[in-house]
Amino acid sequence: MNTADVIVVGGGVNGASTAFFLAKAGVKKVVLLERRQLGAGASGKSGALVRTHYTNPIEANMAFESLKVFRNWSEIVGGDCGFESPGFLQVVAPQYEEQLRRNVAEHQRLGINTRVLTTDEILEIEPATRVDDITCAAYEPDSGFADPNATLYGFVNAARDLGVDVRSGVEATKLLAEGDKITGVETTDGAFMADNVVLIPGPWAQRLVAPLGLEFDLEPRRVQVAVFRWPYGFDHRHPIFIDDSQEAWFRPEGANSTLVGLESGVDGANPDDIAEGVDHDYVEDCRAALSHRLPAFEHSTMRGGWAGVITMSADGRPIIDQIPAFAGLFCMLGDSGTSFKTAPAIGMGLAEWITKGEPQSFDLHPFRSSRFAEGDLWLDENAYGPHRERTISR
Ligand SMILES: Cc1cc2nc3c(=O)[nH]c(=O)nc-3n(C[C@H](O)[C@H](O)[C@H](O)COP(=O)(O)OP(=O)(O)OC[C@H]3O[C@@H](n4cnc5c(N)ncnc54)[C@H](O)[C@@H]3O)c2cc1C
Repeated sequence: MNTADVIVVGGGVNGASTAFFLAKAGVKKVVLLERRQLGAGASGKSGALVRTHYTNPIEANMAFESLKVFRNWSEIVGGDCGFESPGFLQVVAPQYEEQLRRNVAEHQRLGINTRVLTTDEILEIEPATRVDDITCAAYEPDSGFADPNATLYGFVNAARDLGVDVRSGVEATKLLAEGDKITGVETTDGAFMADNVVLIPGPWAQRLVAPLGLEFDLEPRRVQVAVFRWPYGFDHRHPIFIDDSQEAWFRPEGANSTLVGLESGVDGANPDDIAEGVDHDYVEDCRAALSHRLPAFEHSTMRGGWAGVITMSADGRPIIDQIPAFAGLFCMLGDSGTSFKTAPAIGMGLAEWITKGEPQSFDLHPFRSSRFAEGDLWLDENAYGPHRERTISR
């Protein structure tokens, strides 16, 4: 019989972060289970944008605290997560300028280094930008992107150094409970008993929780990205854009390419059987969005792409909780396509909850699983439209 203090199910960036912060907090026996290979889920496919611009202060604060971890990775975690900081521009349609200004003011109150740029100032940051259809943008000079695998592997290496038992190729097949208390998990490598289990299995969650009578209304969604080589004459690293007016985002990729994503995911994906390549139509839509904002890319060459599966919750925000029906059963479910950048905060918050009885650094109450039954779904006052369905570019 294997025993542990905490079992973490899921070797994505959030499982690895949680295992790392648990071990860092002094938990002696942490086991991290991954059914396939580390990064088999959304984490291995992530665009890995790390920005703090959100349309509510709770997520902005989690992103801000996480940004500090990405920026100081070698001291806090160790090694290199591939974080680069070309700066970040949040573009919105002119009718949302007021909301953008209110959000930036809120972010500044949180201590985030951000400001609103005029179109002339946008052109100073990135002269190739088309600005005739926008009036302003939010700018974050400290934001950037990381290498998603280097981030995940960095957390895993640091967790291992602190004694975490990382088991790849071991699937949790059943959650074990006695009455209203979790007692462990059955796996393809025998039973593991523990007073605390943290579920972070991405789109594979429902098959684990259903036998306990739990249902979280999670929707696996196939999302894609495409890579374009920089066109002739374009020879500099541009900032990251989230272009809300086009429901698109783009960032530099490697030495001379740009990674593009659009809000055009398809629900009902089977995470065990998705087409991992990129669709033809999607490539053309990406090129159109990219060259609308950066016209030089009209004749850029497509160089590949891929698809992954994110998991949407009913209000497009993660569910981070200790499940009320089962003491010791913690979860981070429904990543909603936006939980790479906040993985440090999510791991930290869950580790505090388990070791100290409550999350201390972050307000995780808005992420509680009961919000759906209570009818208290997320709705941001300063959103740029009715965007519950938005994912990565939200
Ligand atoms: C194309 C794309 C672009 C994205 N861009 C961004 C971005 O720019 N910024 C951002 O913040 N977010 C982005 N995201 C979202 C982000 O990548 C995810 O929110 C995040 O990676 C989720 O991590 P996770 O650890 O919660 O889940 P996952 O990475 O999905 O990991 C879950 C893991 O659990 C394992 N597992 C499942 N069931 C079991 C079981 N029973 N036993 C053991 N293991 C199990 C799976 O194999 C998997 O490895 C993007 C996602 C995609 C797909």
